Amino acid sequence: MSDNKTVAESLKDELFITRKNGRLKADEKILSEAQNYCEDYKIFLDNAKTEREAVKIAIKLAESKGFKEFDRNKKYNAGDKVYINNRGKTVAFAIIGSENIENGANICAAHIDSPRLDLKPNPLYEEIELALFKTHYYGGIKKYQWTAIPLALHGVFALKDGSVKEVIIGENDNEPKFVINDLLPHLAQEQSKRTLNEGIKGEELNVLVGSHPFKADKGSELVKLNVLKLFNEKYGITESDFLSAELELVPAFKACDIGIDRSMIGSYGQDDRVCAYPALTAITDIENPLKTAITILADKEEIGSMGNTGLESDFLRYVIGDLAKNQGADETVAIRNSKCLSADVNAATDPTFQEVMERRNASFLNYGVVLTKYTGAGGKSGTSDASAEFVARIRNMLDENDIIWQIGELGRVDLGGGGTVAQYIANMGLDVVDLGVPVLSMHAPFETTAKLDIYMCYKAMFEFMK
Ligand code: MN
Ligand code: MN
Repeated sequence: MSDNKTVAESLKDELFITRKNGRLKADEKILSEAQNYCEDYKIFLDNAKTEREAVKIAIKLAESKGFKEFDRNKKYNAGDKVYINNRGKTVAFAIIGSENIENGANICAAHIDSPRLDLKPNPLYEEIELALFKTHYYGGIKKYQWTAIPLALHGVFALKDGSVKEVIIGENDNEPKFVINDLLPHLAQEQSKRTLNEGIKGEELNVLVGSHPFKADKGSELVKLNVLKLFNEKYGITESDFLSAELELVPAFKACDIGIDRSMIGSYGQDDRVCAYPALTAITDIENPLKTAITILADKEEIGSMGNTGLESDFLRYVIGDLAKNQGADETVAIRNSKCLSADVNAATDPTFQEVMERRNASFLNYGVVLTKYTGAGGKSGTSDASAEFVARIRNMLDENDIIWQIGELGRVDLGGGGTVAQYIANMGLDVVDLGVPVLSMHAPFETTAKLDIYMCYKAMFEFMK
């Protein structure tokens, strides 16, 4: 203790938690690696705006790194890389470990669905010679945020003959976009008295699709007719084919750097692609892990993880079961000994809305990947509260590998809350804790993250699975 520190200062160094901006802690090499890593992340964001697109791109990247579709008739050996595609909406990637899977797998689980506007089954209608789509919002959105911004249409028409037509309209600069119009302020006196939540109501989220009438001497709904004619020419569909479609409206913006210092990223859908991309790139960068490594990218988290592509389903159990059977191992033992990082975002402290946070337990941009011991609402309802022992293990792994990290809770205890897939994975009887990236404007059409935090998320997942 020489460097002119008082006894109290030295003791503080020894005993207190030290908090420091990660960009001050990190050296130039790490900062430039983070910058480079995020260039590819932005490309991923622009090309994976829906769960279906994310699955496709993830598989394409994995295949380029040697992953092959799992075949239960084949015998796999340590180091082999496989994936299991669940209906094109959820996908699991695995690398067979050199240890028996009964010793447990290391799993990173992120979700690839994001809040958006789905088309209703019967969406298309005409009012005052304008054609519109009715929408049904998906996930927790602030509805007013979705008006007066350019929207793109993504998804599929599934036809009765079994064929599937893929749709993307509005992503290229020269393509048309869609929009939900809002009332002009001049005439919004009544609307302005509504609560923020009711400012735009669900049934007012109607999307403008066209205004050109099909040229005919007589007849009604000619604008709608012309719109259907254009859809028919492009995809061979008729109005009834919307009944078996999954069409989603998402913001037509591209991902970009935020800030004159280029330290942040703004984009649609970073909850949870900001964790899905690190989970994906971590497993595709790993070779020959000791324990079987699994990355799962799941659908339906934003609506409660329900359904056969959500993580409340048995999909993950079956993935581990398939891998266990393949090496003659016991599925139950494999599950019980597995460990999981539930890779989801946390709320970053917003300088303008600091009062919703409890500062000592809030996460901040640039302070690294966030470890969240428990989520939930109020008195920890709806949470998976990770064990102290498991948190200690992860904390040690992060520190041992110089990964910049912070602890975080989702806001003040009485204010609200949220959950992740952690609770469903914990139900299987394995250890799981939340780890992810802090986000500003979570669930908005344009969310903000910090590049250093994203890179630290990647490094954490790589260390966890390698
Ligand atoms: Mn999420
Ligand atoms: Mn979310």
